[in-house]
Amino acid sequence: MIDIKMFSRQELIDWLTRHSKRAFRAEQILKWLYLRQAESFEQMTDLSKDLRAMLARHFFISRMPEDRVLRSQDGTCKYLFRLQDGNSVESVLIPEKGHYTLCVSSQVGCAQGCRFCLTGKGGLVRNLTTAEIIGQIWEIRKALPDPDKLTNLVFMGMGEPLANYRSLISALEILTNSDWGMKIAHRRITISTAGIVPRIKALGRDTKVNLAISLNAATDADRTALMPINRKYPIAELMGACRTYPLPKGRKITFEYILFKGINDTPDHARQLTKALAGLKAKINIIPFNPYPGSEFQRPDRKRIEAFQKALTDKHFTAIVRYSKGLDIMAACGQLRAKEQPKA
Ligand code: SF4
Repeated sequence: MIDIKMFSRQELIDWLTRHSKRAFRAEQILKWLYLRQAESFEQMTDLSKDLRAMLARHFFISRMPEDRVLRSQDGTCKYLFRLQDGNSVESVLIPEKGHYTLCVSSQVGCAQGCRFCLTGKGGLVRNLTTAEIIGQIWEIRKALPDPDKLTNLVFMGMGEPLANYRSLISALEILTNSDWGMKIAHRRITISTAGIVPRIKALGRDTKVNLAISLNAATDADRTALMPINRKYPIAELMGACRTYPLPKGRKITFEYILFKGINDTPDHARQLTKALAGLKAKINIIPFNPYPGSEFQRPDRKRIEAFQKALTDKHFTAIVRYSKGLDIMAACGQLRAKEQPKA
């Protein structure tokens, strides 16, 4: 038996054609899977009994039940999903005014080794499949009292999404397709990257989603000390890719800047940042670091955070301080790490 969620639209069309069924059935099936979130072929009542039985003989509809849900005092929920092979990933549901934003994972672990990030500490275990990326959104949306309230997705969970490019692009097709997919608007999806330059260019060609860059320092020396990827793709190259990223009208690239006490938090650092971003359609998210047990970095005090922000706004940049939510359940930026090991 095959998980039908592993099939792309084209693969499904090919399968149906091989079995003497009409190609347009593929979109009916996909609509049931992703739009109406059917759990069985029986529910697909606009297909003949024959076809439903045939599908049930060849396929199953995979589920990704959550192993654990942690609820923060501020309403943020962290979901731990156990995968088929015993690995696990985390997703974070953040309540906003009138809607939800979901922070999605793209890999088990991460190979980028950013010094401040818990996910990166154990290295990369493996890429998620398209079905596993979609599974996080599918399960959480289905469990919500009003599934339509889940409107925004940020790929800022575990892993570097652009290092799992093919699965990411297939997932984006399912998420955004307005005929048979989940109908989530491109402008409500943000892909955050540590800066894989060739894939940023590809993303601009292949999709219309929002781009966020995890920058965190504005000189090569400072950035390389925090993020080893900067050796391969230094700031000038990264900014070059951002300058040519095809932004729809009115949109900006988000630059995330985690503020570490005594490392990158002075007005001088802020001025370096304004120089690096000069001429770009940019907004800056200043994220005061969220320490975790054993972390080597600390969070600056409020005065320093405000001075850093002022140095940016004085130069007419949009700079917003974002205090992460879900601190009490370790759901904040850079704190995700599914500790559970694969079952023996
Ligand atoms: Fe990977 Fe992102 Fe963590 Fe860097 S910050 S190690 S890219 S998950």
